[in-house]
Amino acid sequence: MTAAATETAVVPSYVLDAWWTPAAVSSGAEVRDASTGEILGLVSTDGLDLAAVVAHGRTVGQRELGQLTIHERALKLKELATYLNGRREELYDVSARTGATKIDSMIDIDGGIGVLFTFSSKGRRELPNANVIVEGPVETLSKDGSFLGEHIYTRIPGVAVQINAFNFPVWGMLEKFAPAFLAGVPSIVKPATPTGYLTEAAVRVIVESGILPAGSLQLISGSARTVLDVLDYRDLVSFTGSASTANALKGHPNVVQGGVRFTSETDSLNAAILGPDAVPGTPEFDAFIKSLVTEMTVKAGQKCTSIRRTIVPRELVEEVVAATAARVDQRVVLGDPRAEGVTMGALASLEQLADVRASVQRLIDAGGEIAYGTLDDPAVTRAEGTGTDARGAFMGPVVMTWEDPETPEIHSVECFGPVTSVIGYTDLDDAVRLAALGSGSLVATVATNDPDTARALVTGIAAHHGRVLVLNRDDARTSTGHGSPVPHLVHGGPGRAGGGEELGGIRSVKHHMQRTALQGSPDMLTAVTGVWHTGAAQRLAGDPAFGGSADVEHPFRKSLTTLRIGDGVASGLREVRLEDISAFAQSTGDTFYAHTNQEAAEANPFFPGIVAHGYLLLSWAAGLFVEPAPGPVLANYGLENLRFITPVAAGDSIRVTLTCKQITPRVTDEYGEVRWDAVLHNQRDEIVAAYDVLTLVEKH
Ligand code: NAP
Repeated sequence: MTAAATETAVVPSYVLDAWWTPAAVSSGAEVRDASTGEILGLVSTDGLDLAAVVAHGRTVGQRELGQLTIHERALKLKELATYLNGRREELYDVSARTGATKIDSMIDIDGGIGVLFTFSSKGRRELPNANVIVEGPVETLSKDGSFLGEHIYTRIPGVAVQINAFNFPVWGMLEKFAPAFLAGVPSIVKPATPTGYLTEAAVRVIVESGILPAGSLQLISGSARTVLDVLDYRDLVSFTGSASTANALKGHPNVVQGGVRFTSETDSLNAAILGPDAVPGTPEFDAFIKSLVTEMTVKAGQKCTSIRRTIVPRELVEEVVAATAARVDQRVVLGDPRAEGVTMGALASLEQLADVRASVQRLIDAGGEIAYGTLDDPAVTRAEGTGTDARGAFMGPVVMTWEDPETPEIHSVECFGPVTSVIGYTDLDDAVRLAALGSGSLVATVATNDPDTARALVTGIAAHHGRVLVLNRDDARTSTGHGSPVPHLVHGGPGRAGGGEELGGIRSVKHHMQRTALQGSPDMLTAVTGVWHTGAAQRLAGDPAFGGSADVEHPFRKSLTTLRIGDGVASGLREVRLEDISAFAQSTGDTFYAHTNQEAAEANPFFPGIVAHGYLLLSWAAGLFVEPAPGPVLANYGLENLRFITPVAAGDSIRVTLTCKQITPRVTDEYGEVRWDAVLHNQRDEIVAAYDVLTLVEKH
């Protein structure tokens, strides 16, 4: 460490619900402004008790998060997102020091806030307001229905350790924190050293918000080389970074033998394939070049998803290089992101710059040629007042071309900066083969307006990728872009990309939970899950001949304060006459032959003759179970899982049993969702139809 560094402030950690810095620093790293070289701080974890940090998450964090339901946690995410939104500007200022332009900062900071909003709404829409999630159908495991099986999810009992890469200090944290928090698992965030000061600034804002429960978020600013030593099977590690670090961590005895759950998002040699139809002059060609230049220049190409391999028809290589060069010349101003007019910032650090240059040199040594750009120091625009004598980590875009598109280095050396290789393919099979040489990638773009080309390329490469974007004239303007994972969809990829699938969508919440096969009687499964199961106890109003009782109040008279799982109503039988079927056919216009033509209906392999419309039966069922007077039931907003099972002919009768299956009070409203199990039987007790009725019911 330099003399200057020892006087520099240490970037603090946030552990055990308090800010922490080492009592004395004997080892640590200096972090610098990417554009000016100015020392910003020291990063050190000397003396940090990692076991205590983990124990705090497992005890305090687990306890506090466990007091909230999934929906309550989802609302906290929204509250936090709104709060962070109000304090974005101060984070942009810090972000500029990492070399990020305003747009880069928005991708990182606003993108991260967007993840919180998305998980908040998805959590409330797609998950129960509970702490047990039921997945998939119920399996009946005994003939009489007294023994059932199904899958449930409950949160893992430990901590989620999130080791992140340097390139997205805010988004990288929030994309992992949001699903862990929603699942109810405390996060320990370990950002990469070079840009961890921006993560620290974001955590400071989060802590100041006072929104999060104690122990739910801890931050380790600095090295955490021994963190896996203190984890066990209760915990989970989500790693983002280079494949080499991932491989080293994956081999830790606590992962290999101790059962620590480990997933990784690592580097990847992502491809963009230009379809043969997307020749110069087409909107697809233009969109392709635009996307390529964006991916090279946003975050100075320091994105795990950037396009490293540009795979184009062999005869178009030169034109693609020329168009890329022209767009870079026209659009890109390299420099300090705080300077006027700059559109591309510095790499995150001088070490990173040296790394990228060394990687480009490896490509040159392997036969690559620089067709555009240079490894010499570029001319840059500097911001007034921030310039120092020290060098910034600047590097301009570089486009490489190759004699042999199969040169292994093209498909294996990641230049984590503004660098792409343009290679030529002969036909679609060749393009697929070249893309697959990346040994598993996060994302690929296929630019084509030809459906057959899209199908051939996508089905050829999909199994090698976590995400594929088909770019054409229709979505070029609306597409979220090649490089941007969206919180709704999987982010990760097979093989070299790390094999992780834990990010994106509700699956990422479940990733923080254990799936357990639950077996037992209908009553016990109902008690555990809070969801009524067929065969479990019911309290039915209605017809005593079918299990109802005049002493039981109709469930539509009950608000959420008194309604219980298993409350319901059983109707009596109602006969279906031919006149009813004909009248329904006439009034709705649904005169399909099975309802109107005896001879044709009899010839149908499924029907005995004229049968009632399924929708007629549903309408009648509503008439049979409804309690018409104004009351707490506000609306019926849909049906799910509808199946017509046994046809109903003229002369048959139907009855309905409606049972309260699941109650989901809304945290923010004076009502909640109630799901009812509806079963229609005929006079022979055969099931005619089964479905879920979805209603909104008042809390009081
Ligand atoms: P890195 O050197 O592998 O470091 C990643 C993280 O691992 C850092 O936080 C680092 O902390 C930590 N780390 C390193 N060794 C460790 C150990 N033995 N125990 C615990 N933690 C350890 O990667 P990077 O240079 O930060 O990031 C660039 C790479 O990440 C690129 O290859 C890029 O492709 C990849 N990346 C992938 C994705 C994705 O989603 N797939 C996203 C972004 C980046 P220190 O900094 O303190 O050493």
